[in-house]
Amino acid sequence: MPETKNTKNTWIKLICGASNEDIVAIEDLCAIYTAAGVDYIDVAAEESIVHAAKKGIKWAEEVYKNSPGLMISISDGDDIHFRKAKFDPTKCPPYCPRPCEKVCPTFAIDNYGIKENKCYGCGRCLNSCPLNLISEYEYNLSKDNLATTLQKIKPDAVEIHTDINRINSFTKVVNILKSSETKLDKISISCGLNQSIVKSQEPRDLLKALWERYEILDELNIPLIWQLDGRPMSGDLSRNTSKDTVKLFEKIGSDLPPGLIQLAGGTNEKTHGFLKSNNLPDGIAFGSYARKIMQPLIEVAHKNNKRLYEDPERIAFAIKKAKKFLEPWKVSEFK
Ligand code: SF4
Ligand code: SF4
Repeated sequence: MPETKNTKNTWIKLICGASNEDIVAIEDLCAIYTAAGVDYIDVAAEESIVHAAKKGIKWAEEVYKNSPGLMISISDGDDIHFRKAKFDPTKCPPYCPRPCEKVCPTFAIDNYGIKENKCYGCGRCLNSCPLNLISEYEYNLSKDNLATTLQKIKPDAVEIHTDINRINSFTKVVNILKSSETKLDKISISCGLNQSIVKSQEPRDLLKALWERYEILDELNIPLIWQLDGRPMSGDLSRNTSKDTVKLFEKIGSDLPPGLIQLAGGTNEKTHGFLKSNNLPDGIAFGSYARKIMQPLIEVAHKNNKRLYEDPERIAFAIKKAKKFLEPWKVSEFK
């Protein structure tokens, strides 16, 4: 057996993105990562997106015998996970070397601006424009009619994106969940430290906020996941973002309320190496990085008017690549 630091299988979630509505890419991503063995897939709270995700999952379920649960992302207020970027292409000078286009992981940017359906608000392009032409805007698919959305979609799990200071709106969202009578296997609470506000939040503020939420959720008797967002939607996939995520976990992980602990917001191929072998989280969630390594393959397939999973050679390559990326988190893969 090859040497590995991991002593337990870690639960893995693919994050397709709370504002990602690139239906064809979502279908392929769900097919690839279901085949590679993820446990849950998190998508935007919209019927057509859920339908696409289920198609991809179904393809892989039949061939690879893995059935991840489907989670939808909702929020209790304004949240950077629910945004997209835009700019007016008529203002771009012809000599611009187009750094925005180069940093976009989903190839959403071209000469006509940003294709809304391909942008999932990762934020990488926001500071790339030397003329500051790019801005963000809110894009929340379930905000206005959450109860109806839940009844139509019937997800296996939901993730509530919250902020330390939003306990009242969090309570309202939980009340909607209760009254919708949606049968859920799990509720995930995604919260991180907001460093952009005037007084930066501290890990102890986050802990207090999560315990407050635990008191509200406890009576539901649904297993909880605490998703620690190290650097939510920073657009940064570097080593340092990954280190921030691990640091936050090491600081407060042992004091969190009962439930599974999952890391996100800055997780990438380096994250496992930064963790101590005797202190691993229960779960890991991958968004930007998981999509970035697959997007070029997906683009080629779509240019040929195919889903990637309709191309046996390329899908086999994509699944191999996804498995390699997830390998450190799966002990059983080494057996
Ligand atoms: S870089 Fe991110 S935020 Fe910008 S257009 Fe691409 S997906 Fe959207
Ligand atoms: S970097 Fe700015 S000016 Fe250049 S193409 Fe992108 S949005 Fe336009």
